[in-house]
Amino acid sequence: MTTAERHAALEAIAAEVRTCTRCRLAGGRTKAVPGEGHPDTEVVFVGEGPGQNEDRQGRPFVGAAGSLLQELLGMIGWSREDVFITNVVKCRPPDNRDPEPDEISACQPYLRRQLEVLDPALLVTLGRFSLQTFMPGDRISRVHGTARPIDPATGARAATGYALYHPAAALRQGSLKETMQRDMAAVPEVLVRARAERAAAASTEPAAASAAANEETTVAPAVEPPEDETMNTDDQYGLF
Ligand code: URA
Ligand code: SF4
Repeated sequence: MTTAERHAALEAIAAEVRTCTRCRLAGGRTKAVPGEGHPDTEVVFVGEGPGQNEDRQGRPFVGAAGSLLQELLGMIGWSREDVFITNVVKCRPPDNRDPEPDEISACQPYLRRQLEVLDPALLVTLGRFSLQTFMPGDRISRVHGTARPIDPATGARAATGYALYHPAAALRQGSLKETMQRDMAAVPEVLVRARAERAAAASTEPAAASAAANEETTVAPAVEPPEDETMNTDDQYGLF
């Protein structure tokens, strides 16, 4: 798909979301929040659901949690325009209650279709509802800051999943902010490994597969986070 085709496909999904009445959350929303970002990005962030500010503006992560998310992205030299940001449910649950299982499954086709269009290398889950969607059965306290393959049935056909706490959790519990900074600092490195794994999986020819495997060992040997965690200017860690 070209950039323009991807953009159009994402817009078509967003248009459906804006008028969707598939679940009871439609009744309480001001605006639905389809998600937004760069149509060519390799990285998708998936949160839980819109809060009050998001519901008013129709855009994801524009409140306090969004400010923290932007701050964390800035730390690794990325911005929200470089990635795609969306949520498990696209309409605000009343009083910010948790989304219910039937609401999550009603909304799931939109997220799946967005991921089919974007085909990300890396999918970052924000909080436990997103984690449950992509890495079911794992506890956030145990798996935050770790990566694993994503089930292609989610729509992300060849992606690595990486779990972060939800930024709102770090706003409620200050000690989690440092954990989130550490986890976010590793994201560029996880992306480099995710790219190598995609390249290896994409090549069905044994020779090409082993070339990709060799590349993996040369491109991404480091597991340690970069010494200067506030900024990484090496090209391989960049998005565009
Ligand atoms: N929290 C979320 O999970 N998503 C948003 O878009 C904003 C806050
Ligand atoms: Fe439709 Fe999802 Fe909104 Fe429910 S939450 S009304 S399924 S867009």
